[in-house]
Amino acid sequence: ARRFDHISPAAKDPITSVTEAFLTDPNPDKINLGVVFRESVSAAINSKLVEESCKLIYGGDSESIKEERFAGIQALSGTGACRLFAEFQRRFYPDSHIYFPNPTWSNHHNIWRDAQVSVRNFCYYRPKSKGLNFEGLISDIKNAPDGSFFLFHPCAHNPTGIDPTEEEWREISYHLKVKNHFPFFDVAYQGFASGDIDKDVMAIRIFLQDGHLVASAQSFAKNMGLYGHRVGCLSFLCDDVKQAFAIKSQLQKIARAMYGSPPVHGVLLVSTILGDQTIKALWTKELKIMADRIHGMRTILRESLEKLASPLNWEHITSQVGMFCYSGLKAEQIDRLARDFHVYMTSDGRISMAGVTTSNVDYLATAIHEVTK
Ligand code: PMP
Repeated sequence: ARRFDHISPAAKDPITSVTEAFLTDPNPDKINLGVVFRESVSAAINSKLVEESCKLIYGGDSESIKEERFAGIQALSGTGACRLFAEFQRRFYPDSHIYFPNPTWSNHHNIWRDAQVSVRNFCYYRPKSKGLNFEGLISDIKNAPDGSFFLFHPCAHNPTGIDPTEEEWREISYHLKVKNHFPFFDVAYQGFASGDIDKDVMAIRIFLQDGHLVASAQSFAKNMGLYGHRVGCLSFLCDDVKQAFAIKSQLQKIARAMYGSPPVHGVLLVSTILGDQTIKALWTKELKIMADRIHGMRTILRESLEKLASPLNWEHITSQVGMFCYSGLKAEQIDRLARDFHVYMTSDGRISMAGVTTSNVDYLATAIHEVTK
């Protein structure tokens, strides 16, 4: 059976269906007495956001977009998109597991646990090499029960800053296909790894080429600096329009019971930026500047440590990508950094490069050197 064939359209919601009927009626005399005005406005804005968000990750000229084989819903930023997906998984794949990279963003565990989905891990980071444990990763894909769910960060992995290479993604995609696993992409930092929005979702494009049906959670919190607006999108690529319709209606049903309708203001900003070629070009240029700035700061941090004649190897600071530097600092060193130097980071040694500036990088390097020498 195909992946989504057991999912039927949700029964129409008695309130929102009035808006839908109104919106699709072409009659010029139409009057909507069903809901407040703003809800119809927001419905129109939502579909624009979903379409533009899907183009951003799946590619504007991808077959699935042209054939409208995608189902999407505006979500409360990346977190909300993950939460909706977890709920969807529990409802329609009740006996399935979700596999997370080890380690992953800690909130993934909270989200899927609260949705009562069984959580497992797959090998990702190898502390010894401060790199990817690719063999372990592939073997975990092979050993998971058929039809398992796998969560991937397509770029700028949080917290390790380590992404698979193109070749490795191809192999991952191949093995997922063999096992009929479900790929779920958490896209929280598109543009932050390479500075190029298309390159950063190369993994997703490879999966599409291989004929996977995928789902993705997107956040605009970081790459558009809209953290407080909670703008995100959850989308699915489906076999056909009928499936897309069914899935969209089920997602709407889940969201309606969780938070009703999403906020509208930030979404207007996102769809305006993505929908206008000139503004979009400006945005992508700024993203590149941001990515370069992070990389520049990594270089300075590493060089500063080397200038202090640190006996340790700090190559990983510059080989990792994205917002985070997975420093490899140990718990007692992190404690000392806070106690003696007033430098704070999460207990796994993750440094957010957003907090490193030209004016504090020397102080930071000295502090790290003091606790590691
Ligand atoms: N996924 C990952 C991997 C993240 O790092 C984050 C942000 N810390 C999110 C999702 C969600 O971010 P938000 O809800 O702010 O969009």
